[in-house]
Amino acid sequence: MSDYKFIDHTYDVVVVGAGGSGLRAALGAAQAGLKTACITKVFPTRSHTVAAQGGIAASLGNMGPDSWQWHMYDTVKGSDWLGDQDAIEYLAREAPQAVYELEHWGMPFSRNEDGKIYQRPFGGHTTEMGQGPPVQRTCAAADRTGHAMLHTLYGQCVKNDTEFFIEYFALDLIMDDEGVCRGVTAWKLDDGTLHRFRAQKVILATGGYGRAFFSCTSAHTCTGDGNAMVLRAGLPLQDMEFIQFHPTGIYGAGCLITEGARGEGGYLTNSEGERFMERYAPSVKDLAPRDMVSRSMTIEIREGRGVGENKDHIFLHLEHLPAETLAARLPGISETAKVFSGVDVTREPIPVLPTVHYNMGGIPTNYHGEVLTKKDGDPDAVVPGLMAVGEAACVSVHGANRLGSNSLIDLVVFGRAAGLRCGDTLEAGASQPSIAEAQTEAHIARFDRIRNADGDHSIADLRLEMQRAMQENCAVFRTGEVLDEGVEKIDAVQKKASGMRVDDRGMIWNTDLMEALEFDNLIGQAAVTVNSAANRKESRGAHAREDFDKRDDENWMKHTLAWANDAGEVTIDYRPVHNYTMSNEIEYIKPKERVY
Ligand SMILES: Cc1cc2nc3c(=O)[nH]c(=O)nc-3n(C[C@H](O)[C@H](O)[C@H](O)COP(=O)(O)OP(=O)(O)OC[C@H]3O[C@@H](n4cnc5c(N)ncnc54)[C@H](O)[C@@H]3O)c2cc1C
Repeated sequence: MSDYKFIDHTYDVVVVGAGGSGLRAALGAAQAGLKTACITKVFPTRSHTVAAQGGIAASLGNMGPDSWQWHMYDTVKGSDWLGDQDAIEYLAREAPQAVYELEHWGMPFSRNEDGKIYQRPFGGHTTEMGQGPPVQRTCAAADRTGHAMLHTLYGQCVKNDTEFFIEYFALDLIMDDEGVCRGVTAWKLDDGTLHRFRAQKVILATGGYGRAFFSCTSAHTCTGDGNAMVLRAGLPLQDMEFIQFHPTGIYGAGCLITEGARGEGGYLTNSEGERFMERYAPSVKDLAPRDMVSRSMTIEIREGRGVGENKDHIFLHLEHLPAETLAARLPGISETAKVFSGVDVTREPIPVLPTVHYNMGGIPTNYHGEVLTKKDGDPDAVVPGLMAVGEAACVSVHGANRLGSNSLIDLVVFGRAAGLRCGDTLEAGASQPSIAEAQTEAHIARFDRIRNADGDHSIADLRLEMQRAMQENCAVFRTGEVLDEGVEKIDAVQKKASGMRVDDRGMIWNTDLMEALEFDNLIGQAAVTVNSAANRKESRGAHAREDFDKRDDENWMKHTLAWANDAGEVTIDYRPVHNYTMSNEIEYIKPKERVY
């Protein structure tokens, strides 16, 4: 194995990932005068953030009264009281500034009649601490908000001398004997060289792992590589049982139709033409949070009121809206509906089905972005040298269920917080210990093992088996029996994976090897997800157990922490939910029943 040689780099800060969160963190670190690198497996503006449609939540109050306290209340309630309230206060409070910052950097937001940033209604966002009607809080650039945001941030990063390492595939974290993160290793896809990045801080911004499921709205690159690197470093992931199903994925294709479609007045119907959401959420109807709408749709289909030949989906109507509104506010999804379901949205409804969309769980952090673990009885022990932001992280502001448009704001608020924290705690150019060969031995061993894998099972077959098991056994509704079967199925795939086959032995543009590494990352997260779900014996947010159909605050108002070893065996422990706020300006929001 000695024929693998590393090329060395030293930076103050290395960010892995160039989506909205990675770019915002890199920008902040660079602006603080730190030598900053950003490593990414795809070109920055191809990160999944580019696909975000509906918008970014902030209580600007451009369309009517709003306040950060109301935003905080809605986020806590949306999280079904699993979110950490100090972090949620930070999110809601900092959100307006983070949006104005994007505006000043040139992000082309849509405008209202006063020329201010246009805001639309989104599910679960209300007024008067949940007592008032829905609010228009979601700032939008038509239905291409992520695209506008990512390009704006990339431009700012280039201007501020962030150094990009594009099409570098990060492999593993370099951890020393004291458990301090010292850097990260990577494989350069276009020339096959291996690289060792030494840094005072590594910031993981590697996004979600939607691709563990068969049908999801996220890009093929969303394989949660950073989460898997954390598991291999012997650290836990948090709340992985909470998977968000978006109510309106296009039937069959799985592509997203933004919640902004319902924000602009769209509604759902069943085979009887009934607007059934009126029954499930009488006050906010089609603008209920995603977990509730997905469950309601699933019940309608199960009870025989699905539409289509097989009665297995639901209709989303936009045809009653003025064609000009559709062209101005929803041009992207109008095109998507045409291409992927052949529907002209000005004339007929779109066939839709709940589809995996977002991972509430991930790498546990505090609101500075510092990674946490449970150590010597301390549930909030900081892992030195390591930070995480974006969908990869679990701060936790989304708790058991994320509200729509709260991810894009999470990316920039906590990306910014991580940059500030680096500025406050690091000295530019400080000397760093050298990296011993032993610290990267396991990285090379794994890479070499997978590269030379010559078993009987193709990666495509293994991946499909995993994705089908997750889709069937870790779905919108869950029971102990189905989840236990899921644990067994994933375990079986993991055992089979020791007999995987990679056909291309090369080092240059070896997509076969890259997909194998990604699958190896996914399967560990699948194991942690389904084990955490089987373990949580209550219903909360997106985790709906038919055998334990009530929320159980007494026993389960706590974060799941899950570790996995190389054999895929999962160990579970817990962290308390932060039931206190950051400042004295708002009180802890006490749990109550979550009805809309
Ligand atoms: C279709 C769609 C629409 C959405 N719409 C909205 C919306 O309107 N509003 C909202 O708030 N949220 C929305 N979301 C959710 C939100 O867009 C995502 O949660 C968010 O963009 C994730 O950003 P991120 O920075 O965490 O990661 P991503 O944007 O996913 O970027 C991940 C980065 O990590 C890099 N990376 C990953 N692995 C490696 C590796 N091994 N080596 C090197 N680099 C690596 C990738 O190259 C990429 O640059 C939407 C999501 C989808 C899928």
